[in-house]
Amino acid sequence: MADIDQRYMSWLRDAHAMEMQALQMMEALVKRIETYPELRQRIQRHIEETRGQADQLARCIQRLGGDTSVLKDTAARFMAMAQGLSGVFVGDEIVKGAMASYTFEHFEISSYRVLIAAAEAVGDMETKRVCETILREEEAMADWLADHLPSVTQQHLRRELAGAEAKR
Ligand code: MG
Ligand code: FE
Repeated sequence: MADIDQRYMSWLRDAHAMEMQALQMMEALVKRIETYPELRQRIQRHIEETRGQADQLARCIQRLGGDTSVLKDTAARFMAMAQGLSGVFVGDEIVKGAMASYTFEHFEISSYRVLIAAAEAVGDMETKRVCETILREEEAMADWLADHLPSVTQQHLRRELAGAEAKR
């Protein structure tokens, strides 16, 4: 395998590892959300989308002759970031979870922009198409979070002010 193909393959594996990490984080977050049904629903929907993204990436990797069984190795590279973000969910309030999600979506957006350019450079048009589709889902999620961060924040503050169970 040429160097450029190895680099490209490692980026695809990184993206797959990123999606597996995203799944874990969102599943942890959604369990903690009790009183923000809109946010819960949107994250649940993105969990389903993310499962599809991981599957599609795995198919791209396999089609290029890559081995998805070594994906565990690259997953470790995302542990630090994911632990940082998911640690935020534990014992902290919904606002921090929404902020972490917003941050993670933008990390994903940057990853797919890189992958789209790389796929184009190596002439892998099928993967390029897949990554463009995934990118639109990440952008939609990031936009939704941008739109709802203010209301989640204000709801949280109102509930805290009212002495209600605002933490979740
Ligand atoms: Mg994703
Ligand atoms: Fe995402």
